[in-house]
Amino acid sequence: VKLAVHSYGPGAARDAVRAGADSIEHAVDLDDATLTEMAKKGIFYVPTVDHNRYYADNATFFGYDDTAVKNLRAYIERNLQTVRRAHKAGVPIAMGSDAVFTMFGENTRELEWFVKAGMTPVEALATATRNGARLLGKENDLGTVVPGRYADLVAVEGDPLTDIRVVIDKVRWVMKSGSVVVDRTQ
Ligand SMILES: [Zn+2]
Repeated sequence: VKLAVHSYGPGAARDAVRAGADSIEHAVDLDDATLTEMAKKGIFYVPTVDHNRYYADNATFFGYDDTAVKNLRAYIERNLQTVRRAHKAGVPIAMGSDAVFTMFGENTRELEWFVKAGMTPVEALATATRNGARLLGKENDLGTVVPGRYADLVAVEGDPLTDIRVVIDKVRWVMKSGSVVVDRTQ
């Protein structure tokens, strides 16, 4: 059984890592010893930076006041710093959205934050593909383009290796399990 731990602070995240969790979601300000242990044991960090951007941008819808919005923006900065440190420490990172249900369609914005935090575009893409599959224990079915795996493919206009934004606003074609489900190439 895979164990994912939702934690916003460093203390609970540290305890979860010591207790053998498979992934830590959200947490900021992780201490160096915890990052080192995550890298050593292959425990994933799922930063979910963008969901707080989404809450702040839609503050009226969620009923957040100015103070709450300020706190959300401040949290994003700490989240970004923690991604930067985790990435440098060699912690495996997977892309997650926190499943804010009205946010679907904006999830890949997370990858732009990862590039801001120091990943190359190809490293950012791996968080949403190969790494996500590994975290789920589904690396033999998902996450890489290899014969025998699910043909889940996305075609974008432009080169995501030089401009990560094309996976956010230039998706033109989607194949799911071998069937084309989106075609905007015409
Ligand atoms: Zn959560």
